[in-house]
Amino acid sequence: MPELDIDALLDLDRRHVWHPYGPMPGRQQPLVVESAAGVQLRVAGHGELVDGMSSWWSAIHGYNHPVLNDAARGQLDRMSHVMFGGLTHEPAVRLAERLVDMSPEGLEHVFLADSGSVSVEVALKMCLQYWRSLGRPEKRRMLTWRGGYHGDTWQPMSVCDPEGGMHGLWSGVLAEQVFADAPPTEYEESYAERLRDTVERHAHELAAVIVEPVVQGAGGMRFHSPAYLRVLREVCDAHDVLLVFDEIATGFGRTGALFAAEHAAVTPDVMCVGKALTGGYLTMAATLCTPRVADGISRGEVPVLAHGPTFMGNPLAAAVANASIDLLLGQDWRAEVKRIESGLHDALSPASEIDGVQDVRVLGAIGVVQLDHDIDMAAATRAAVAEGVWLRPFRDLVYTMPPYITGDEDLARIGRAVCAAAREG
Ligand code: PMP
Repeated sequence: MPELDIDALLDLDRRHVWHPYGPMPGRQQPLVVESAAGVQLRVAGHGELVDGMSSWWSAIHGYNHPVLNDAARGQLDRMSHVMFGGLTHEPAVRLAERLVDMSPEGLEHVFLADSGSVSVEVALKMCLQYWRSLGRPEKRRMLTWRGGYHGDTWQPMSVCDPEGGMHGLWSGVLAEQVFADAPPTEYEESYAERLRDTVERHAHELAAVIVEPVVQGAGGMRFHSPAYLRVLREVCDAHDVLLVFDEIATGFGRTGALFAAEHAAVTPDVMCVGKALTGGYLTMAATLCTPRVADGISRGEVPVLAHGPTFMGNPLAAAVANASIDLLLGQDWRAEVKRIESGLHDALSPASEIDGVQDVRVLGAIGVVQLDHDIDMAAATRAAVAEGVWLRPFRDLVYTMPPYITGDEDLARIGRAVCAAAREG
């Protein structure tokens, strides 16, 4: 193979390739990843960087994992993709079986979508269709918390934080939803009371409440008491509103429970998972629901779930997801996540001494340093890279969610990089 001409590649990238939330042509120069193995990204001009981001929560087992590689190769030789309309196959059926087995009791039906945002679209569509099928089309709004993030397609955007930038851009186009204040970290009865009131007041027009349980991720990396999930379950049950948990970021052990719903021992009516579903290898997500939701839809004038993407149930992704779940459940993952939690506690504690740091918080394999000002993203990223770590600080946050295989020395290195980014950003 010819030697990679990095400058030429970056020039083409800048001129032709959109990056997340990026301008065209590009302004920030991305780093070029040549390969990845274990917890390391091999980056042109920088050598090996420890990945503190797990590629946005997904690469829980690290990169280039022999078990996941074998699963992908084995499936590739059999069939990489086939349409799901009128056809089925073992990888998808086995995946559905695994997801039902490992999810909170009561979730029994699985829609295999192709990205997190689509799985949220499907969840919201399920809820809307449920009420239409029961002859209650007026129940068509969603209630969510401020500070949330549920994806970048239309319905998910409508339930993202209204201050997050997108609502202003799309006002008059996005569905108008109901927003409750973001939950406080600790349980406060007065907040719970207000939350109950808001749900009750809008129940006549609400199809569902949708929230990220325990951790609000991309909207601000905030943690909250699981007790609020019980409050939501009770008030939704009392007032005929469905409850959706978006576990796309929190699922598969990240918060120290297999799903964050477990911290509250609550089963939602609908649950979305994605990201770590395939260990970060391939694009796949899933929407699970209870028989109540599925039966409701089946009773409607249109008794089918009106959704069917081309790459639904992709066998390659499903085979890797099966291997990834087996890998996770086949080890003492709780102990590993606990180890990461205590490693991050130690590694991030010096951050609280840094000027401008407002809060340092850790939950499971998630560590967050919050500043009292918006950081200079480029300077903060450079500082982390200089410490040999890949981080993606944004707004007033420097944060990490490393792969579960990250060793103690690499956790310490991540801690140094987070501190450097907080100092320089
Ligand atoms: N919901 C949550 C909680 C997320 O964190 C994300 C991704 N950051 C999404 C939905 C959207 O998933 P995707 O980017 O795969 O469309």
